[in-house]
Order: sequence, then structure tokens, then C-alpha cells
Amino acid sequence: MGIEIENSHKYNSILMQKILIIGGGIAGLTCAHLLTRNGWEVEIWDKLSHSSPTLIINDVTRYLLQDIWQLETDFWYDFHLLTSRRVAWGNDGGVLSMAEPNAVINGNLLSNRLWTHLLEKYHDQVQFQELSLSIDNLGDLQHEFAWIIDAGGRQSAIAQKLGSGHRYAFGDRCILSQEVQLTNFAQEDIYWIETVPEGWLFLAPLGNKKAILQAMVPLILGETSDLLAILIKQTRYIQNYIAELSASIAIFAAFPQILRPLSGNKHLAVGDAAFSVDPISGDGTGYAMRGAILATSVIDAIASGLTSSDCLQHYTLRLEKAFDAHLQQCLEYYLKGFTSSLWQREIERMQKARKLWNPTKNENFTHTLKDFQLVKLEKSGKIA
Ligand SMILES: Cc1cc2nc3c(=O)[nH]c(=O)nc-3n(C[C@H](O)[C@H](O)[C@H](O)COP(=O)(O)OP(=O)(O)OC[C@H]3O[C@@H](n4cnc5c(N)ncnc54)[C@H](O)[C@@H]3O)c2cc1C
Repeated sequence: MGIEIENSHKYNSILMQKILIIGGGIAGLTCAHLLTRNGWEVEIWDKLSHSSPTLIINDVTRYLLQDIWQLETDFWYDFHLLTSRRVAWGNDGGVLSMAEPNAVINGNLLSNRLWTHLLEKYHDQVQFQELSLSIDNLGDLQHEFAWIIDAGGRQSAIAQKLGSGHRYAFGDRCILSQEVQLTNFAQEDIYWIETVPEGWLFLAPLGNKKAILQAMVPLILGETSDLLAILIKQTRYIQNYIAELSASIAIFAAFPQILRPLSGNKHLAVGDAAFSVDPISGDGTGYAMRGAILATSVIDAIASGLTSSDCLQHYTLRLEKAFDAHLQQCLEYYLKGFTSSLWQREIERMQKARKLWNPTKNENFTHTLKDFQLVKLEKSGKIA
């Protein structure tokens, strides 16, 4: 069942106030969709030179996407579906098998489809410019727009510059990604995660005997193709499913990062620009969408009279708690999975950066989301 969302008229007073969104990935587009639905005008600037990784989207995130965007179920008709995963993690030799439905999606294709959907519904409230905003050109933008949303992904420095902030990095690790041809042993609805001494590998079928292979390593030593070949050879299971490697290998930075501060009086960082997670979570898209829901509810709440500093503080607290739980999960996985000196160094970097970052821990939430609207809580924890 879809989430019922009131197409509220109470924001009519804010109609015509424009919000600038930097970045047309999942975070930026979801912000644009939610804001236009509530009466805001938005302008999206994107440099359109972005190559997104292949995304595995779990069912929780898929249904969230479907509900928020009110997508028909046939939206997914040509995406490959996976039914379960096999995990061989650490040295105990066992393979954990679990049912876990997922859709495999090309990130750029997903953004294109959502963009088309946005234009079909709200073309009179959305403007798009193919433009790469440089931090040297922020100039008077804050006077021109009611808000600036930085949804420019993990390398964006817009919100960082606007808030004179700092981006905390939790390690150095990166992902090598390559398309492969599968052998006849591979089942095309099962994906694999497997550790070897120097990293973990992830193999997700794409349909038609193809798959995406990703390998996480703490450091790239030597030629990437040699390194990948060594890692594959060390696997007990994954190597049996790979018939052939394709030509090109893409490299992605994959260590978690978070910005501080995450917002200012007239700007917010959303999605990977706010924080980006280690792909081990398998849910970067879900984090980006939930961040977009919260960010837009904060903007709406402030416009409807809630105290700006309280709403922004709630935004920070929510995001920092979610990110810290993710770091904790990464540490548990990596401590269990790896003993090599390179991984020990990577784990120490994560631990040190976490201490330095020092998230707000014991504060209680003062607000909550009710039907996508941010509402204040009383001291008792009830909605005010
Ligand atoms: C290797 C790897 C594998 C991953 N696998 C998965 C997965 O399987 N499942 C999953 O859910 N998540 C996965 N993720 C995470 C997921 O890709 C991200 O969390 C998600 O795409 C974040 O969306 P976003 O909109 O915040 O940023 P992005 O998708 O990065 O979009 C940012 C947009 O901003 C634009 N932009 C940037 N700077 C500027 C500028 N200055 N001016 C104008 N435009 C600008 C870019 O062109 C881009 O379109 C993976 C990430 C990596 C690195």
C-alpha cells in the first residue's frame, strides 16, 4: 500500500520562493520532487558528467522510492531482479544464505527515469540547467534563493564552503569495479559477498550472463587488473562463477565521509554530500532518500513557523546518529573479516577519525516526522 501524502495547500504562502538544488542524483531529485509537491519552485543544476555505479536496491528502499515518487510497479519492468545473497565473511569457512530480494539498477538510468517523472508532474515548477557550480562562484546565490541544497554527491564542496565546514574521512579504501561474463555454474538471481585476506568481493548478476564485480581494498598496490586477478584467484566461491573479465576497471573512493556542519541558515547538505556510506551497507540510495525526506521536511517546517535552529539541530542529530551507527557496523564487519596489516591500518584510521569527529550521542530527539512533516515533541516524547 502506498503512503498517503496530502498535497497540502498550506504552503501556498511560500509558492514562488525558489530553492536551488545542486545535483540531479537520487538525493537532489527526491528533494525536488518533495518540494515541488509542497508548492516550492526549484531549480536544479547538474554538470551531467557523472557516472554512477551499478546500484543494488533492496526491497525496503525500492518500496520507499515507489511510495515517495508514486511510481507504477512497471517502473522496474526491465531491471534485473535478485532473490537471495550468499555471504562468506571471515575465516570460519561457512556460507550464509539469505533470501533478500533486490533490483539491479544502472544509477544514471534511474536518475533519468525519475527526472522524466518529475517533469511530467511538475514541469511548471522545475527548471534545469546543465551547469557545474564552482565553489568560487557561490557569490550572491544565497540572496537569490530561499535555500541552497547541496546534493552534489561525495565530492561536492558547496555546503562545506557555505558553512566553512570540514569533511571527515573514515579511512582510505576504494572499490575496483568491472563487468564480467558469468560461467554456467552461476545462478543469475543470487549475488555473492566474499572476503579474501586483502579485501572483500561482491558479484551481482545483471542478467544475460553478465555481472558486476566489485572488490574493496584498503589500498591499490600495482596495476588494478593484476590486483583484481589476484583477489579473484584467492576466492573460494566467486572465482567459479567468472568466465571472463571485461576491458575497463572503474575505481571509486568508498570510505565513509561526513560533513560538519551539515546545514546553515539557508543551506543544507543532502545525500552523499552530507554523508556517504561504505558500500558494504548496500543502501547508499536508501540513506540518500531518507536524508532528502528529512531535509525537505525541515525546510517546510521552518517555512510554516517552527524555530529554524531547532529544526536544523534535529537534522544534524538524526544524520549523525544514522552515520555513527553505520560506522559501528563497518568496524564490526572489518574487525571480524580482516587481520592483514593493511586492513589493521585502515581500521585504526576509522577508529581515530571517529574519535576526532566525536558525534553528539546522548541528546534526545526534540522533533519527529509524522506523515512526512516535521513536528515538535513534548518533553514526555509525545507530539506537541
Ligand atoms: C562503488 C559504489 C557502489 C555503490 N553501490 C551501491 C549499491 O549497490 N546500492 C546503493 O543503494 N548504493 C550504492 N552506492 C551508493 C550510492 O551510489 C550513493 O549513495 C547515491 O548515489 C547517492 O546519491 P546522491 O544523489 O547523493 O549523489 P550522486 O548520485 O553522486 O549525485 C550527485 C549529482 O551531483 C552532480 N554534481 C556534483 N557536483 C556538482 C556541481 N558542482 N555542480 C553541478 N552538479 C554537480 C553530479 O553530476 C551528480 O549528478 C554505491 C557507491 C559506490 C561508490
